[in-house]
Order: sequence, then C-alpha cells, then structure tokens
Amino acid sequence: MEHADKILKEKEALQRKINILETRLSETNAQHKLSSEGNVSDSPLLLEFDVLKEDNILLKEDIEFFKTKLIEIAETEEGIFKLEKERALLDASLRELESRFIAAQANMMKLGPRDAWWEKVEKLEDLLETTANQVEHAAVILDHNHDLQDRLDNLEASLQAANISKFSCSLVDLLQQKVKLVEDRFQACNSEMHSQIELYEHSIVEFHDTLSKLIEESEKRSLENFTGNMPSELWSKISLLIDGWLLEKKIAYNDASMLREMVRKRDSRLREAYLSYRGTENRDVMDSFLKMALPGTSSGLHIAHIAAEMAPVAKVGGLADVISGLGKALQKKGHLVEIILPKYDCMQVDQVSNLKVLDVLVQSYFEGNMFNNKIWTGTVEGLPVYFIEPQHPAMFFSRAQYYGEHDDFKRFAYFSRAALELLYQSGKKVDIIHCHDWQTAFVAPLYWDVYANLGFNSARICFTCHNFEYQGTAPARDLAWCGLDVEHLDRPDRMRDNSHGRINAVKGAIVYSNIVTTVSPTYALEVRSEGGRGLQDTLKVHSRKFLGILNGIDTDTWNPSTDRYLKVQYNAKDLQGKAANKAALREQLNLASAYPSQPLVGCITRLVAQKGVHLIRHAIYKTAELGGQFVLLGSSPVPEIQREFEGIADHFQNNNNIRLILKYDDALSHCIYAASDMFIVPSIFEPCGLTQMIAMRYGSVPIVRKTGGLNDSVFDFDDETIPMEVRNGFTFVKADEQGLSSAMERAFNCYTRKPEVWKQLVQKDMTIDFSWDTSASQYEDIYQKAVARARAVA
Ligand code: ADP
Repeated sequence: MEHADKILKEKEALQRKINILETRLSETNAQHKLSSEGNVSDSPLLLEFDVLKEDNILLKEDIEFFKTKLIEIAETEEGIFKLEKERALLDASLRELESRFIAAQANMMKLGPRDAWWEKVEKLEDLLETTANQVEHAAVILDHNHDLQDRLDNLEASLQAANISKFSCSLVDLLQQKVKLVEDRFQACNSEMHSQIELYEHSIVEFHDTLSKLIEESEKRSLENFTGNMPSELWSKISLLIDGWLLEKKIAYNDASMLREMVRKRDSRLREAYLSYRGTENRDVMDSFLKMALPGTSSGLHIAHIAAEMAPVAKVGGLADVISGLGKALQKKGHLVEIILPKYDCMQVDQVSNLKVLDVLVQSYFEGNMFNNKIWTGTVEGLPVYFIEPQHPAMFFSRAQYYGEHDDFKRFAYFSRAALELLYQSGKKVDIIHCHDWQTAFVAPLYWDVYANLGFNSARICFTCHNFEYQGTAPARDLAWCGLDVEHLDRPDRMRDNSHGRINAVKGAIVYSNIVTTVSPTYALEVRSEGGRGLQDTLKVHSRKFLGILNGIDTDTWNPSTDRYLKVQYNAKDLQGKAANKAALREQLNLASAYPSQPLVGCITRLVAQKGVHLIRHAIYKTAELGGQFVLLGSSPVPEIQREFEGIADHFQNNNNIRLILKYDDALSHCIYAASDMFIVPSIFEPCGLTQMIAMRYGSVPIVRKTGGLNDSVFDFDDETIPMEVRNGFTFVKADEQGLSSAMERAFNCYTRKPEVWKQLVQKDMTIDFSWDTSASQYEDIYQKAVARARAVA
C-alpha cells in the first residue's frame, strides 16, 4: 500500500508537470504565430524563436515520455489492485484453513488420548491395506475374465468358421469341449470374483464398525475424564438429589441412608446410573438408585456445617474461606460433608451450580409460631449446600447485606433453629454438626435442650469460634424467640454473660458443645486470658474440650499457577510471571512504573480496630518514606474509619506511589496478592488470619505483628533462635509505630540490598504447605473421638 501511495503521488506530480508544459507549449505556439505575423527576420526575436522551437521539440518529447510513464503507472495501479484482490482471497483461505485447523484440533481432543487413537488408526490402515490388496486381486481376476471372454468369443467365431468350412466333426467336438472348459473356468472365476467383492464389502462394514466403536469409546472416555476431573461436584449433586427425594417424601429414610452411604464411599454404580439416566425423568434415576441400595457399613462421618458464610457464594471474611476450605478437605478424606447457609438476597448466586428450590416447605418454630422455609439446594466448590429462605414477614435475609442489621440476633437465632429443623425433618443420622461463630452458636443449646428430646441425638456438636470479639449478646428474654428455655439457660454456668446480665450465644455454645475449637494454637492460649473478652473463665472451665487448630487456605482457590484473575500465572520457579502481574497492577491503578524493582507493599483487610488501623495508616506513610509503593484494598463497617481512610485516599490521589481502594473486590484481591513484594498485617489481635498465608503462596513476604495465628504462621527472617528453613517473613511484637517501622525497614533493606537472598525467601514462602490437609486431619481426629465416645455410651 505504501508503494501504491508513492506511485500515486508521483503520478500527480507528473500530471502537474504535464499541465505546466502544455501551457508553456501553447504560449510558445502563440508567440510563434505572433512573430510570423509581425514579419520579423534575422532579429534577436528570430533567434529566440529558434531556441523556443527547440525547447518546444524537447517539451514534446518530454510530454510523450510522461504519457508513456502515465500509462505504465495506470498498469502498475491495475496490477496492485489485482494483487490486493489476490491477497484478500489468500487471507480468506488462510482464515478458513485456520478455522478448519481449530475444528480439527477440537475433533482430535474429543477423540481422547492420541496414542490410543493412533493405535486404532494404524489398525484401520492395516485393514484398509488388506482390503485394497484384495480389491487389486479382484481386479486382476476381472481382467483375466475379460481375457477369457475374448478368447471364448474368438473360439465361438472359429467354431462358426469351422462349421462354414465344414471341418471335421472330431475337431468340432474338440472345440466344443474346449468351449465348455472355458465356460466352466469363466464361471469359477466369476464366483471367485463375487466372493472377493463380498469380502471387500464385509471389510468395509468392519471398518465402519471399528470406527463407530472407536468414536463411542472416545466419547465414553471423555465423559469419564469429565467426571474424573470433578468428582466432588458430581457426588454433591447425587447427594442433594437423594436428600431432596427424602425431604419430598419420595423415598424412605433407610433407603436414603443407604444411598448416602454409597455416595460417601463414591460407589461407582451410583455414578454410572446417574450418568446413564442423566437428562431422563428423575423417577428413572431414583428407581435405578433404589435398586442399588444395599446395606453397608461405614467408617466415614456424616458432617453438617451450619454457618453464616461460605466462600465464594457468601463471603465477608475468613469464616467463609474456612467453611469451603475445611469442607472440601474433609470431603476429600472420604466424609459426607454438607453445608447449611441462609439464602441471602445479596449472595453470589452465580457461584452456585444447579441451584433449585425443593418441592417441600420445612416448617420451623419462631416467637410462638411456625413459619415455612423454602429449601434451596446447589453445589458450591463441589460441596452440597442447603440454603434456607424463611417465609417470615421480617424477610430476615433479604436485606442486601450479610450483617449489620438492627435485628441480627433475631435473624441468626431464627436461622439456627430452621437449620436444625431441616436436619431433623430430613431424617439424617448426622455424626457431627459443626457450627461457627455466634450466628450459629444457638445450635448447640437448641440441639441438646430441644432436639435431643425428640430423639434426634445421633450427632455430636462441634463449635468453632473464629473471633471472640463477636459473642452475640442480647437480653435474656430474647432467647425464647427460637424456642430456648430462658429460665433454664439464664444462669452463670450456662448462657448468662460473665460480666453483665445479658445472655451470651458464644458462651452457650462453649457450654453445650462436645468440642470447642478456635482457629490457631496461639489464639487458643490468648483467649484463656484477656483475649477471651470476658469468656476466659468459661473457657478455663471447659478447657478439656477446647483446642486451637490453625486454619489452612483453600489451595485450589489461592493458586498463582492457575489463578484466572491474574494477568500471568506463575509459580516459584518462574518469578517473571510475578513481575508481569506487578506491572499490570501498576498500570491498572495508575501507579508509577519507571522502576520495576521499586518494592510494592500490599494490604487487604476489613478496616476494623482489630486489624490495627492506625498501624495500617502508618505503614502507608512509612512506605512512601522508604521509597516504595503501597496498595490498600479494604472497607470498613465503621463509618468513622471508612471516612478516615477516604481522607487518606484523597490525600494521596495525585501521588503515583500510593493507592487506597476502599471496597470489597475479590478479583482485585488476587491481583494485589500476586503483584505485591511485601504484605502488611499489623493486627492488634488476629485469631488466625488468612491474608498472610495467601500472600506467601503468591510470593509476597509478610510483615506481621506477632499475635494469634500470625505468630503460628510467620517466623522472623532475622531471628536466629529459629531454624533458617522456617523463617519466612518479618515480625514485630509491640503494636506501635516503632515496631512496625523497624520490621518494614529490615524488609526493605533485605529487598534492596540482597536481591538474591530476597528471591530465595520469596521462593521458600511460595512452597510452604498452607493447605487444609493437616488441619482437616486434626478436625477429623477430634470428630472421630467425639463420635467414638458417643457410641461407647449409647
Ligand atoms: P477476617 O476474617 O478477620 O476478615 P482473615 O485474614 O481471616 O480476616 O480473612 C480475610 C479474607 O477476606 C481473605 O480471604 C481476604 O483476601 C479477604 N478480604 C478482606 N478484605 C477484602 C476486600 N476488601 N476485598 C476482597 N477480599 C477481602
């Protein structure tokens, strides 16, 4: 195209020259006319005329030359158009070839593993070759047949001739015999040829059969792969199906138990039946399942988690991560795990697979009345989940937020009762009911004081307190709303708060549960003194059933090598990817990017006093002072704190090294973990804390205060009293600016002065095992002990 433009420009310039020359020519002609009219001879004018004449001739030649040039240009233009047309055609063919190639690739994928496919294709090629040989052979025989036919015709003709010339009779006989012989041979060849053709046709049929079998086999294998890749999802769907039938009273309790047991054992017969009846009537699946329901024994547990959050469908903080992370880990260990959640109007419905409402209403008690509850089922992260939607006029979970309502106590007391009612009415023989935090703490006293009396007593209750700051207190009379006996429970050794006259839901759960846990060993120690926020004495009384188990993180969700939110996926061996994410975040947040190695400090948190908001603020200024960049992602339920940080954000609005994003944003959180070099967690207290573990998994070195779970997961890089291999971050003890500053300075120092050492630290952090595996084993252990004790006394 550039070339064409150049030619066109040249053409225009030439045209302008021609025009000038033509004007000059006509002027010359006019002058010539004038001079001949003026009869001027031998004068200088005549000389000039001669010169002009010569000029004129030269000009004419020029014009001719330019005209031919013009023609050439026109031809070139035409050529270019043709070339362009051809190029367009080539482009189109190329695109078609590309799409064919993609389609061919997709077909190849459908056909399963290549080796197996090539083996089959090779066999088919052999078969085809044999068939081709047979056909060739048949063709030779056919040729031979034609020969024979010719010879027969010749013989018949000679015979006729012989008759005509009256040859001897014996010769005629001989010839007739020969004809007969030839005819016989012809027949034999004919039938041989037919059998060859039949054989060929048979081979073709065989070829098609093999091909269809191959396709069928590939489809089956791809289906197997599909189910193999997502077994949890599949089993959860089956489990929900069975529970739905039971609740809808379509199957008997015993059958449901047996089928559930088969689900727990991942019985392949159920899976096959489910897959083969998929898309047909529910009734058919049910019948085929019931045929398989045979008695069996179990060593796995049936565990029901009742909680207010679950990641990613309804997440506010770490509780949500624990429910899905622990649930998945227990499911992987062979237990039947179910989750019961409120059906919030603001939950991320798109994170639930197969969400559907059951054809049943579960009634539950509240404030002297029975209320209907719609029961929704679906799978989240491969786990079966029940969502309870109360048909109560207060619309408890249609408030566009998870917490922070004036009637939170009422909302979750209602939910706890309805969740137990669901388990009770579904006739499940659950081994462990695991409730979490104050919102579902009511489950423990309700279970033992109300449901056990109804014969629903197979389960043992485990209560996990994720944060003793939130205890769920209310006037004692409010306990009666969910059917608890106020008089019976409003006692210092039961549910009455230790420091005021109200009742305390967390205290009730500590007293009434068989197992009480919190989320890290250090926090378990801290809450036995003032960290217990008034419950330390209760915890001491119940210390035999109380322990701290460090949370894990969901290593599927938090995995830099597969994280779909990242610009580039990466792992410990390839830190280039991490640098690319840093560059991408800088661009996204409009941060300076001139120095790729300028350290970036991240912080992702709820902005509440517990998280050390004043220290977070200090970290922002300190980072600026040390020449780094700071990104904060956080929001606050406390209006003053939110306003304060909005002020800081405004202050740094035009500073291209500091960004404050004051909202909840899951996708952005992944990008910040990946982009940051360091991660700040300056909590005043921290029951476990997940962000420091997630940060390490993404290669961001934590700078944390030594408290709670932070003390159990981050070990100071410069602390020579601990083995080098476990040192993974920078810590400080005192919750003041000085402590934080000194830890930050040490981190910045190492980052800028010892890049190789820093790199090794990053790589070490990325490979630490923070999965749920170990912690889930600890839960498994305490569940099993509780169940064994229960069976021993039964
Ligand atoms: P807590 O439960 O006290 O809030 P944790 O450290 O246990 O603290 O868990 C916090 C979880 O919430 C982490 O998964 C973190 O990534 C996430 N998180 C916190 N704030 C935000 C936010 N503003 N946007 C996205 N995710 C957030």
